Amino acid sequence: MTHTRYIKGILLVATFIFCGIMNAAPVTKRPPLPVVDNGSPIIGGAHERSEQSRKAQPATAPQKTATAPQKPAIHENSDKGPAHVPSKGSVNKTVPATVDTKRPAPYAPAKPAPTSQEHAAPKSTPRQTPAAKPAAAYKPVPLTFPEISHKTRKYYDLKKIAARYNFHVVEGKDHDLRVLTLVTQRKETLVFTEKKPLFLIGNLHASLSYPVVYEKGRYLLEKTDYSEFIEPLLRTTLLPRRKIKNIVIDAGHGGKDQGASSGKILEKNLNLLMARKIAAILRIRGYQVSMTRTGDKTITLQERCDFATKKKPDLFLSIHCNSAEDASISGIEVFLANPPDVPSFGTTNIGKKGAATPFQQTSALWAFYTQKALLNATKATDRGIKRKQFKVIIDTPSPALLVELGFISNKDELQNLQKKDYQDKLADAICDSIDKLSKTLKPQNK
Ligand SMILES: [Zn+2]
Repeated sequence: MTHTRYIKGILLVATFIFCGIMNAAPVTKRPPLPVVDNGSPIIGGAHERSEQSRKAQPATAPQKTATAPQKPAIHENSDKGPAHVPSKGSVNKTVPATVDTKRPAPYAPAKPAPTSQEHAAPKSTPRQTPAAKPAAAYKPVPLTFPEISHKTRKYYDLKKIAARYNFHVVEGKDHDLRVLTLVTQRKETLVFTEKKPLFLIGNLHASLSYPVVYEKGRYLLEKTDYSEFIEPLLRTTLLPRRKIKNIVIDAGHGGKDQGASSGKILEKNLNLLMARKIAAILRIRGYQVSMTRTGDKTITLQERCDFATKKKPDLFLSIHCNSAEDASISGIEVFLANPPDVPSFGTTNIGKKGAATPFQQTSALWAFYTQKALLNATKATDRGIKRKQFKVIIDTPSPALLVELGFISNKDELQNLQKKDYQDKLADAICDSIDKLSKTLKPQNK
């Protein structure tokens, strides 16, 4: 493992008890949403609320405790693979990406990035997607709102978003910071805190690319944080329907690249063990599974991406275990690729690379399903859902996640990770979330 310097200043260990003062959402009649969500939105849903249900809103929001994502783990500044093997001072070493420029980009193209300063980002052109999926299959009707300029970015007014979804709005405070809670018709919550680049959905933490801004009575959410991350959770009909059949499972590290270690316990071995378990369960459930490695073999990040490109999977999942210098840190986190033109988690630098919109949005929903299932199954600490430029999830031609199943640097978590029961719980949870995604994305009329 390399010893990457932590990005300081994101130690947002703010545990707050939130008692809001009701501030009812406007009850003006709005036109129906362009798409009625009949999928499985993570919370709420996009149905127009009836007058009756508006009146039935609670006087106060449910009490909410939010613990923000914490100290970054060692892994978080690595590039997941040979770039963070024990390679002596390879902190900023990255594996250059190569993109097959012959492949057309049938989906809506990723936004071009104006600048690239991300030192850790591989240099390459924006992501291309394979030819397998016809462009006609993807016709999202995203909701848009009046754009508000703040610094160099465009934002949406969260209260306007809430009104459109018929969410109840509750304003409160966490010490000196303003907190906006959106309560869905099912009494589920989305919590935003000014100046913080994160939100809570139900009890799950997720990191935004930009902090929420409070300005003149408005709470501003950066536009792509809404459209690429939050909207797919609220309106699953936005996502391209697809049959989930082929899945690539990537056991992180291998061979000379041990990953993290704790005594004789090596991350590469745990990753492979978990990857095999997951693959076995998925096969029993009828999926076609390919593994980037089935033994203790050294493979580069590029080879993993090339493998996935060849397999044309419907989903790509990379399995890792985490490590931190601070042995008290524990928990589970799930990474998806960030969109282009926004900072990778843990940095303020904007890189050119990122996942194309349909992959990004599908990965967002899958990440929530996965993190929710993993935490429910294990009761582990929630380290949040994060978006980062890890090569294996940026350069694979499908929705892609990288999961960190626990910290082998934490004594208790390491013990758990070695127990068959606990491993089975993790594997089942991951497979259940794939089943759930598969059900949500199931093509209609088939
Ligand atoms: Zn790893």
